[in-house]
Order: sequence, then C-alpha cells, then structure tokens
Amino acid sequence: MSHCAVHGCKTSMYNKPPGVSLHPCPGSSEMRSRWLLLLRNKCPMLDWSSSKLCSKHFENKYFDNQRNLKSTAIPTIFPNPSQSVKAIEGGPVLKTKMDRHLSKMTQAQLVADIKNTTVRLREPLNLSEFLTNDLQTRSDAPLEAKLWLLIKKQDHLNNRLMETIVKNKANAELAENSVEEVSKSKKDLEKNIETYKYIVKCLQEKQATLEEQIEILTAVESR
Ligand SMILES: [Zn+2]
Repeated sequence: MSHCAVHGCKTSMYNKPPGVSLHPCPGSSEMRSRWLLLLRNKCPMLDWSSSKLCSKHFENKYFDNQRNLKSTAIPTIFPNPSQSVKAIEGGPVLKTKMDRHLSKMTQAQLVADIKNTTVRLREPLNLSEFLTNDLQTRSDAPLEAKLWLLIKKQDHLNNRLMETIVKNKANAELAENSVEEVSKSKKDLEKNIETYKYIVKCLQEKQATLEEQIEILTAVESR
C-alpha cells in the first residue's frame, strides 16, 4: 500500500516530505502483538503483509544510523495530540486520565485506599438475601447488592493474587539459594581438582626418583 496506514496521517509514497519514509509491519508475532496494542484505534485497515507506517510515528531511538527502522521499533507517535500516548514499552497503554492517575499510585497505596473506602461504606446486612446459590445476584436485587457482590469478588481475587505474589517471591528466594549452593559446590570441586593435580604431580616426581634409583642400581649391579 502506498499510504501510511495510520488514521488521519496524510503521508503517502507520492507526497512524502524529504526525510520521511514508509516502513512495512513487523513479521514476528511478538512484535505484531505489541504493534496491535498500540495501533488498535489508530489503523482501521491494518494488514500485516501490505500496510506501511510512515517514519513520523516512530521515535528517533528506533532508527539505526542508516535511518533503517530497527526490528524492535514500535509506533508511539500519532496525529491527534489528545490521543497521542507515550507507551511504556511492553506495558499497558494508559488511555484515560484516570488510568494515568491510578498508575502513579503504589500497590500499597491502592490496597490501603480500597480498604479504607470499603470500610467506610457499610455492607448491607441482608446482602445474602439477594444472592443465588452460584453466587450471582438475583434479578430483583438492588444495584447496591450487585456492587457489593462485585466488591467481595474483587477483594477475594486481590487476596489470591497477593498470595500468588508471596509464593512467587518465596520460590524466587529458593531458586537464588540453590544457585548459590551450586556455585559453592562448584568452588569445592575446583579446590578438589587442584588437590588431585598436586598429588599427581608429587607421584610423578616420586616415580622419576624411583626410576633414577633403579638406573643407578642396575648400573651398580652390572659392574
Ligand atoms: Zn503516517
């Protein structure tokens, strides 16, 4: 295709200003999925094999000295400034002001904030009356009950995720320890090898002395 695939971008093969170039999409599925995250709302007609993007959508660091696009390049610059999102590489694209604000809070802050808020809101005493056996809200349940069920589920999920994080941390520590042990036993082994080498050397010297003595004895005997 001769036009840049980014919606609202006017660059084409025929009108591109000097210094602007058109680049094909990446071939690897890993890079494609990263591009897809960034181009979701930007390229209505994206076709991996034929679509091209112009160099205006890539930061300078993604070009080599010959102005070739590096294989790790991702498009992060888009025409409408309000939609231009500086993507965190490999991370989620933060679309709204709320997302950006939330991403600035630490995990601990978020947890504390949620806990404080839920404590202040009072859980309806009759919540269970609005729930079915498979933990859904009945159709006549008020919105408050639906929201409370959601909060409970979310809270449970958070706890589980925290457990997973703690477990992963413990596993990582175990792995680190065993790496240390391996390197320690490797050192021991190296020490042992040095000792054996020394013993072999001593034995060789001893053998040489013995051979010398045998030679002398043979000489004496033959006289
Ligand atoms: Zn373009």
